Amino acid sequence: MIYADNAATTKLSPHALEVMVETAQNTWGNPSSLYELGQRAQEALSDARSRMAALLGADAKEIYFTSGGSEGDNHAIRSCARLGAAKGKRHIISTAFEHHAVLHTLKRLEKEGYEVTYLPVHENGIVTADEVKAAIRPDTCLVTIMFANNEIGTIQPVKEIGAVCRAAKVPFHTDAVQAAGHVKIDVKEMNIDLLSLSAHKFHGPRGVGALYCRTGLPLYPLIEGGAQERNRRAGTENVMGIRGMVTALEDMVKDLDKNAAYVSRLRDKLIDGLSAVPHSALNGDRANRLPGNVNFCFEGIEGESRPLLLDQAGICASSGSACTSGSLDPSHVLLAIGRPHEVAHGSLRLTLCEENTEADVDAILKAVPEIVEYLRGFSPIWQDLESGRRAHML
Ligand SMILES: *Cc1c(COP(=O)(O)O)cnc(C)c1O
Repeated sequence: MIYADNAATTKLSPHALEVMVETAQNTWGNPSSLYELGQRAQEALSDARSRMAALLGADAKEIYFTSGGSEGDNHAIRSCARLGAAKGKRHIISTAFEHHAVLHTLKRLEKEGYEVTYLPVHENGIVTADEVKAAIRPDTCLVTIMFANNEIGTIQPVKEIGAVCRAAKVPFHTDAVQAAGHVKIDVKEMNIDLLSLSAHKFHGPRGVGALYCRTGLPLYPLIEGGAQERNRRAGTENVMGIRGMVTALEDMVKDLDKNAAYVSRLRDKLIDGLSAVPHSALNGDRANRLPGNVNFCFEGIEGESRPLLLDQAGICASSGSACTSGSLDPSHVLLAIGRPHEVAHGSLRLTLCEENTEADVDAILKAVPEIVEYLRGFSPIWQDLESGRRAHML
């Protein structure tokens, strides 16, 4: 089997697993308990917090542990919205191609009386800091723009956007779930006020993440209850998962340059190979993209059947994103970069990691063109395109 769906989730690293087993066996107390077993868990938690902070260029007291990326996004956005409303500010700036954890939270806030500006992301899948600057109003209470897109892998000019927000004194949140562990992050240097990440996208466990919130920016709780996480996030801490997450991220950051060089070489080979398929196109900027992300549109095929055929060929990949599969709507990301509906339906996302090999890429490059040709063979749209009844778009 070839696993090429690392944007959906990643395999737990053996090192993280080892630390988790050790924690479950020896440090399983409740960190709020005052006896030795609990205090040992408290120390493990505090050690994990400092290490997470160091990985992001933050202070330990700026880190809040969460259940993952969706919670971090909801928490950051809802907190800033509430802070804004207290000052009479109810305008939020975001983009049209955010993850649903952000988009659906914003849709809910619109129903609650907030106004949201969704910036266009252009054909290359990138927003510019100038566009953010032009959209900021006196009543803007939050800018939330993802660090790297989960479908097309494009990386945003986060530092520049952060500088614009800092100058306008508007809080800046970034969903860095796809970026953490794969590209360099330094919250101070990049002018980031809030950042969410999730362990299972960098070989950590599922169901655990972190939210960074800059000192001086109030953070309202999303989940109320006990006094954990300095009253900002109730719930008995998942010390095992948190320790596994920090271990996984440390390992990824330690080898970041080496991994990026290796994975992007495989990515580029895959992009070059798939570009040879007639009437195909790479989605998103070729240069400013995650090391492992390949996303193509193929004209004249429908999205649903292709991942199944790839599965038969032993390749795990996705059409669009895991979150949109199961629905027949084309990806909102591909529509946001201007792909027409028919073209957006025929998309394929292959996301690689350090464990993939050159042989994997060769196998994919053999299977995909064959599957595309096979599917085009009985596609009415393809017949129209080939006979000239309909004009090619790619
Ligand atoms: C996976 C993902 C999320 C959701 O993270 P979970 O930990 O699965 O809740 C949010 N944003 C992006 C960009 C993602 O890729």
